[in-house]
Amino acid sequence: MAYEFDLFVIGAGSGGVRAARFAAGFGAKVAVAESRYLGGTCVNVGCVPKKLLVYGAHFAEDFEQASGFGWSLGEASFDWATLIANKDREIHRLNGIYRNLLVNSGVTLMEGHAKITGPHEVEVNGQRHSAKHILIATGGWPQIPQIPGHEHAISSNEAFFLKELPKRVLVVGGGYIAVEFAGIFHGLGAKTSLLYRGEMFLRGFDGAVRKHLHEELTKRGMDVQFNADIARIDKEPDGSLKATLKDGRELITDCVFYATGRRPMLDNLGLENTGVTLDKRGFVEVDDLYQSAEPSILAIGDVIGRVQLTPVALAEGMAVARRLFKPEQYRAVDYNMIPTAVFSLPNIGTVGLSEEQAIEDGHKVQIFESSFRPMKLTLTECQERTLMKLVVDADTDKVLGCHMVGPEAGEIVQGLAIALKAGATKQHFDETIGVHPTAAEEFVTMRTPVNR
Ligand code: FAD
Ligand code: NDP
Repeated sequence: MAYEFDLFVIGAGSGGVRAARFAAGFGAKVAVAESRYLGGTCVNVGCVPKKLLVYGAHFAEDFEQASGFGWSLGEASFDWATLIANKDREIHRLNGIYRNLLVNSGVTLMEGHAKITGPHEVEVNGQRHSAKHILIATGGWPQIPQIPGHEHAISSNEAFFLKELPKRVLVVGGGYIAVEFAGIFHGLGAKTSLLYRGEMFLRGFDGAVRKHLHEELTKRGMDVQFNADIARIDKEPDGSLKATLKDGRELITDCVFYATGRRPMLDNLGLENTGVTLDKRGFVEVDDLYQSAEPSILAIGDVIGRVQLTPVALAEGMAVARRLFKPEQYRAVDYNMIPTAVFSLPNIGTVGLSEEQAIEDGHKVQIFESSFRPMKLTLTECQERTLMKLVVDADTDKVLGCHMVGPEAGEIVQGLAIALKAGATKQHFDETIGVHPTAAEEFVTMRTPVNR
């Protein structure tokens, strides 16, 4: 049967755009439908605007530290509206770039909601289109627990467009988004509390990293509360919000921000018209080739709930495009040693196994750890410390994990990730000459294992 398109991609986010562009480049006839914003979550309400706000929040400490170097700046003041307007302008520019990328690579762009009406059929703006393959790349959506008063809470989607910076904010959650936004609000001057339901936030990260970040956030004056969970939210007559915790305490605030995970975006997608199945958590179930239970339908990115990171969605998009239209170039995505950063203030950078994971996997580990006050701070009052940690297999000398909390941790860990991917041993680290004077050189000068 002749189809109108070889590939119909639903969602012009990180994964969808990558798959569409590369498939078109390989000679396929490709369409992409986008209902909301070109570039998807990352460009519009994720990585990019988040990082711009993190940069904005970082100036608070830059101004404070500048006096140690002889600068006097007068009283600093901050204008939220300017930051948001400038951020919006930049995002608008990026939306245009994404449009050009798609159109110039020969992809047919359809702006509207896409609904799958059959294994080879998609409806957009009342028109039906046929395709040999359909790729679901619809991403995710914030998930707020349905407690009484949840309608008074916001998620990251709204936070990027607040008219004013709230004076007081309660951030709920203990994952990436919660710690990043707590840092943004706190850095920009809001009185910020971070509430996490468990014993210690950032579950899955290395224990030393979690503890170190907790200490640094507390040192900076952020109110971090563990074993704290909101039972209900009420709007007070003066417009403020009252959050009643499960332990009965009442907290008054101007904004309750939930960052409690993301669900797959499957709203009105028409999966009932297909044989596509979902996993236990509700994400689209796919095999190693991203093929769903309906042979003509594939899925990648956040909607499959594997690793919810932009570079992973990009890699999956590329793998699908190559497998379908350039099989001789196909390489499976390698999910080992994915480096990642949490853009909290200070940043976390991490690649490989945590100490806890390494032990659980049966490794006999040697740990190298260093906590120090970076040189830049020696002329300032700031007492922030940087943490660096290596998890090494004692039998093979292989470095299993690198972890850092401190300035530019993400930038530093990207390079280390290449070394780990290449199978670097601790001896390779030891034989590598440091770049002096940097904080990063600490990673190649840690000689004595920690005595546990
Ligand atoms: P998305 O980028 O979400 O794209 C999906 C697209 O599909 C959207 O544009 C949506 O409008 C569209 N769509 C949905 N349904 C339909 C439909 N039926 N018809 C048409 N279009 C549809 N990752 C990092 O690596 N680093 C970071 O620093 C980082 N920061 C983040 C910060 C925040 C606040 C958030 C929320 C996420 C962050 N992420 C980060 C995660 C990253 O944004 C996602 O992993 C990535 O965007 C997933 O890409 P995707 O292609 O799967 O989906
Ligand atoms: P995460 O899954 O990272 O964290 C969710 C947090 O919310 C956890 O601490 C979880 O606690 C808590 N939680 C879940 N349900 C509830 C509930 N009902 N009540 C109270 N707390 C709850 O999700 P995020 O929303 O932070 O981010 C989504 C994903 O986006 C991330 O996992 C990451 O992949 C990606 N992302 C990446 C970034 C980066 O690369 N820098 C930045 C931002 C997002 P518990 O641990 O106890 O389950």
